[in-house]
Formats: sequence, C-alpha cells, structure tokens
Amino acid sequence: MVPAYIGLGSNLEAPLDQVKRAFDELGTLPHTRLIARSALYQSRAIGPEQPDYINAVARIETGLTPLDLLDALQALEHAHRRVRLQHWGPRTLDLDLLLYGDETIQHPRLSVPHPYLTRRAFVLYPLADIDPNLQLPDGQSLQALLHLCPFEGLVRLSGSH
Ligand code: AMP
Repeated sequence: MVPAYIGLGSNLEAPLDQVKRAFDELGTLPHTRLIARSALYQSRAIGPEQPDYINAVARIETGLTPLDLLDALQALEHAHRRVRLQHWGPRTLDLDLLLYGDETIQHPRLSVPHPYLTRRAFVLYPLADIDPNLQLPDGQSLQALLHLCPFEGLVRLSGSH
C-alpha cells in the first residue's frame, strides 16, 4: 500500500456536499483506504469569474498504480456530473493526485507531484492539517513552502465532519 494525497475542489451544485461525499467515495475505491481528511477551506476562484471554491485534501493508502488511481479519480469526477465548459471554469468536482508516495511521475496523463502543489494555498494549508512535517520527493519541506505562500484569499471552515 502506498500513501497518497488527493486534492478535492468544487464550486458548483452544493460544493460542501460534493466535497464531503467525495471524501467518503475515496474510501470506497478498490484496494484503497481513506486515512485522513483535512478541514474544509473556501477559496477565491482563479481564472474566469465564478463562485468560490470549497477545497480540501485527503490522505489515502492505495494498492492502485498511479494511472489506475487517476482513472478511478476521473470516474468519480464523472459520477459527480462534472461540467467542463472552459479551462479553469467552474466544476462540480475536481480531484487531483497531489502526491503518490515518494514518486516523481512525468507521463502524458499524469504529473506527480501535481504541478500547482508548491504554490497554491488551497493545497498547502489543507496538506498541513494532515501532516505538517510532510516532505516532497525533491526534499522540499511543506513548512518552507507555506512560508512562501500567504493564507490570503483562503477561509478555513470548520472541520470536515
Ligand atoms: P484538470 O482540468 O485540472 O482536472 O486537469 C485534468 C487533466 O490533467 C487530466 O487530463 C489529467 O490526465 C491531467 N493530469 C496531469 N497530472 C495530474 C494529476 N497529478 N492529477 C490529476 N490530473 C492530472
């Protein structure tokens, strides 16, 4: 089993419910257990004008390969009737594979660590809820990244339960 971190985001159709449901669904993927969930955060959208996002991070343990995990995440997105009208546009559910063990993956369908991980407050702060001592595969510490990334534009809502 490999520890992995998944970023969850939603800004359409009751986003809080979308994210809470997605947490539970991650635990139902084959060969996968949900280990921890961050608090829920509200963030301002990047890109075209659209509703605020609800963001969170989950830690799972999985026996799936990275690409099988990506397939499973995309199937979950589709099950949430994700609407993809425009790049960076609103979506019912967005699931990103942030980290997969200590692996660095460059594949046409999959970049791990996720390219935006190091500079997005809505990923870094929820990651710190789960493991403040986290290190990236290249040795960067989460704490160092947090110091470079202000909490600006982010609102920490109550815990995810
Ligand atoms: P997005 O619109 O941000 O959900 O991007 C989806 C696309 O990003 C898919 O076609 C994936 O194949 C690709 N992708 C590349 N790396 C990742 C990753 N680490 N997690 C999720 N999707 C990824």
